[in-house]
Amino acid sequence: MSKKIIVAGAGHGGIAAGAILAKNGYDVTVYEKQKRKDMGYDWTDIFDRKGFTAMGMDIPDSSLWSLKNDMTFFGPGMKTALRQKTPEDKLEIQMERKVLYDCLISYAEECGVRFEFGKEIEAPLMLGSRVAGIKIGKKDIFADLVIDACGINSPVRSKLPAHLGIQKDAQKYERFYVWRGFYEKTDCGEVEDKFKVLLFHRGKLGISWVAAEEEYTDILIGRFEKFDDEEVEETLEALRAENPHLGKKLVRGGEFVEIPVRQSLGVLVADGYAAIGDSAFMTVPIIGSGIANSMKAGALLANAVIDDRTDSYSGTTLWKYQKDYYEKIGAGLVPFACIKLLLTRLECDELDYIFEKGILNARDMTAGMVSPNLIEVFKGVTAADIKIKADGLINNTDVLKKVIRLGAEIAAATAVTAAMPKEYNLKKVCAWADKYNDCFKR
Ligand SMILES: Cc1cc2nc3c(=O)[nH]c(=O)nc-3n(C[C@H](O)[C@H](O)[C@H](O)COP(=O)(O)OP(=O)(O)OC[C@H]3O[C@@H](n4cnc5c(N)ncnc54)[C@H](O)[C@@H]3O)c2cc1C
Repeated sequence: MSKKIIVAGAGHGGIAAGAILAKNGYDVTVYEKQKRKDMGYDWTDIFDRKGFTAMGMDIPDSSLWSLKNDMTFFGPGMKTALRQKTPEDKLEIQMERKVLYDCLISYAEECGVRFEFGKEIEAPLMLGSRVAGIKIGKKDIFADLVIDACGINSPVRSKLPAHLGIQKDAQKYERFYVWRGFYEKTDCGEVEDKFKVLLFHRGKLGISWVAAEEEYTDILIGRFEKFDDEEVEETLEALRAENPHLGKKLVRGGEFVEIPVRQSLGVLVADGYAAIGDSAFMTVPIIGSGIANSMKAGALLANAVIDDRTDSYSGTTLWKYQKDYYEKIGAGLVPFACIKLLLTRLECDELDYIFEKGILNARDMTAGMVSPNLIEVFKGVTAADIKIKADGLINNTDVLKKVIRLGAEIAAATAVTAAMPKEYNLKKVCAWADKYNDCFKR
């Protein structure tokens, strides 16, 4: 009899893993709290199309996506603009979230995955230390493996027994509160910077973005603190003063949501359990992109399950997924989690200084988005560039101290990540995860 896999929540990584497993003969059911018609937010997303190929899917027809516009970054003083210049073959794609879900769900169904929509999971079902299924209302649903793709506030992850060493929640500065809406675009001629990203906009710890699309202006406001409608309106007014193409009528979206912006979950697996996607905090911590990482992780998880000749799906056999994830994705995100910490410590004038003096420049902002791997980002830095950065740092002791601290934190976190246990031994894994998480304390 084929092994029974539950995907808890129709997160992107869970669908990816489920599709590969169903194609390989596993009995996969996705339980999702929303109705099918409500799946996906009313907005577009930007991501690496290699996510599709990683999960064995063809890249959807090009009529379903476009290439993203380069971004222009501004510090709070709005004095220096850092304009990305991404080579076309490295540009990510932009796709409607609902269309992305249509593609993923129909592909998974073709592979043999069953979807149960409108089913809200309350908790994991435990048999001793093993995750043996999920609870939906009064119903206990058993499975050989539960893939937790329920997102940042997963009730499965947060209700696991503490002794499994899996962190339950994202803390302050690990969640980014976001409001997103599309406004009518007023006709005011060609917009110079089509995709503006304003860091520490209005002196607030966070960002605002204004992206001029053909038919609307896309607004995202993000903060490390919760904020309300009044704050959204004030921010919109400030944005309108600088961006005449931003109209007054909201045409789509207009929702508050949360994105994890932290290091990936220290322990991804337990007996009968694997976390993926936002449930495992797999986003790039400074930009919050998590779609492609989730799809790529889905393939890694499916491979670990298929490789498990014991069919036990225990922490021991699923540890291959943890190791592969950290080797291919998670370790590369570690420096970005540290950079996010630096951002939360910077003052507005310090960020302006970093932009104005070229400590960060347009090339860095291009490379950082193209490759979420710090070594790749710094490969192209020239000697002249290093001198500019060094001069800028030497002349500002406060910024220099913060950057030195960042360097030390990246080195420590990278070393601890590399020392991840090779085998799953609960005591050793928990001890390692404590050390790993300590590296990212603010
Ligand atoms: C405003 C915003 C913009 C973003 N832009 C981008 C972008 O441009 N590019 C990018 O790569 N990423 C972006 N992200 C991040 C991206 O959405 C996630 O990283 C990515 O979707 C992976 O998350 P997930 O699929 O694992 O989780 P989610 O998208 O949160 O999916 C989890 C699923 O589980 C379901 N669920 C939750 N609880 C239960 C329950 N109790 N029972 C049953 N089902 C449940 C949910 O309904 C949902 O369908 C953005 C996020 C936001 C909020």
